[in-house]
Amino acid sequence: IYGEKRRNSRGVNLNVRSHYEPLMKAMSGFMERSYEVGPLLAFDVERDPANVHEVFSPYDRRQRVGSVQWTSRDQAARAVDAAWAAFPRWEATPVAERAAIIRRLGDLMEENLAELMTLCSREGGKLLTDGVDEIREAVDFCRYYAMRAEEQFGEPLELPGPTGESNRLMLSGKGVFAAISPWNFPVAIFCGQMVAAAVAGNSVLAKPAEQTSIVAHRVVELLYEAGMPRDVVQLLPGDGPTVGSVLTSDPRITGVAFTGGTDTAQIINRALAARENAPLPALVAETGGMNALIVDSTALPEQVVADVVQSAYQSAGQRCSALRVLYLQDDVADRVIEILRGAMDELHVGDPRDLGTDVGPVIDEDARKNLLAHIEKLKGEGRLLAETRLDPAHTAHGTFVPPVAFSIDTIDALEREQFGPVLHVVRYKASEIEKVLESINAKGYGLTFGVHSRNESFAQLVAQKIRVGNVYINRNIIGAVVGVQPFGGQGLSGTGPKAGGPHYLLRFATEKTVTVNT
Ligand code: NAP
Repeated sequence: IYGEKRRNSRGVNLNVRSHYEPLMKAMSGFMERSYEVGPLLAFDVERDPANVHEVFSPYDRRQRVGSVQWTSRDQAARAVDAAWAAFPRWEATPVAERAAIIRRLGDLMEENLAELMTLCSREGGKLLTDGVDEIREAVDFCRYYAMRAEEQFGEPLELPGPTGESNRLMLSGKGVFAAISPWNFPVAIFCGQMVAAAVAGNSVLAKPAEQTSIVAHRVVELLYEAGMPRDVVQLLPGDGPTVGSVLTSDPRITGVAFTGGTDTAQIINRALAARENAPLPALVAETGGMNALIVDSTALPEQVVADVVQSAYQSAGQRCSALRVLYLQDDVADRVIEILRGAMDELHVGDPRDLGTDVGPVIDEDARKNLLAHIEKLKGEGRLLAETRLDPAHTAHGTFVPPVAFSIDTIDALEREQFGPVLHVVRYKASEIEKVLESINAKGYGLTFGVHSRNESFAQLVAQKIRVGNVYINRNIIGAVVGVQPFGGQGLSGTGPKAGGPHYLLRFATEKTVTVNT
């Protein structure tokens, strides 16, 4: 749908039996498979049992998915050597060839949808519906960036100049990029960063999140099958600070594409800045948010609740775009909270592979503990508004957290992003709206934001005053689509440019102007 050159990825409607049944049958072939994986580098890596880490499913910690050998410091350093050596050859490869490999990866991911979805569930705890969206987004990234690369990196741009002179602007890769990604979109974000850097002509060292390295490994295998040379894109699973510090301290790393927590982005930024005699690097960081939704008295309560439930609890609230603070105008607050309670009573928390499940597990025990500590604290203050009951029959063996809603007085009560199914509700009076907007802006995050109102000028005014990357009016605030809602924040939420947007690849490129006296 985004132009003749790009085909949007194929969807799967899980409510239609003819889509659902073949997919389930195909997925069942990968449910029991054991994956024993490790780094994928330009050179061979021997199995080192001392450095192998077991992986279990978040929905049932007794179920083993496989194991991952982490990358050692020495291997990471040798991988940088290989990436550095590969760069000139890859950069000189015509963009059409680079783009063709990336498109083939998109096609291969579509063909391997069942396996990738199974791994997203088994390793990342993803719901089936989230798994479909995840792979579609990854495929869209491949096709969109391949298309943009051909448009932007193909022919030089002829610029107007004085008579007797020609001026041409051309784009090429910068060098070696580290692509460091989180677990919450283990295919889409992992793949988006990696293919953007590669199609722009850079060699890439991809460091997936610890929790989701197996599915990342499978994607890189498919990338090699698509024709990507092994020294141009390498996979370095392992511990963030260990692998990260080798990469971010090496002066040959010309850029880092990072998605994850704001604190981690700051560590990486400092490490890059501390390098001596290194070129000034490019840092593309997409980080956390404290996303708000404002509901005024003209909004439709039922629609508000449907969008709130989706925004706050889908993917167990583990989306950077997820709703964290709901502002309800006093006049409608009681009504909205009443309907919200009813809706939360109906949510089913459990095995993400069951179609009837609305909310799956959180990623691991650390995440669960942190969220439960926050929940206990707010419960202790008597602030609970609504909670979905966990049924031990479905949740006893996994890292589950109940979807909850709490009242708080202002957004200032929140010190940090709570990355899970926890919603905070603030009541406000119509006369306080300026103060509300100021306090949201003052937090310094700026990722997503929503407004529900039938007063169009109010919605537009609020949208204009709020400092965020993505504003949604009268709908949910999650699920940005590649090429349609370019995604990314500002301030503590990221550097830009927006993923899935027309300017993204430019940050991975060097621009050169050539002037000829004719
Ligand atoms: P995280 O803890 O910051 O980790 C992200 C990645 O950084 C992981 O691969 C991690 O490795 C690595 N890392 C950790 N320490 C490092 C270091 N010192 N140097 C280099 N790399 C290091 O984030 P997360 O928990 O995976 O993801 C959740 C966060 O991501 C949330 O804050 C969410 O809002 C944000 N997020 C933002 C966006 C966006 O587009 N704005 C999208 C998705 C998620 P390990 O796995 O070994 O720790």
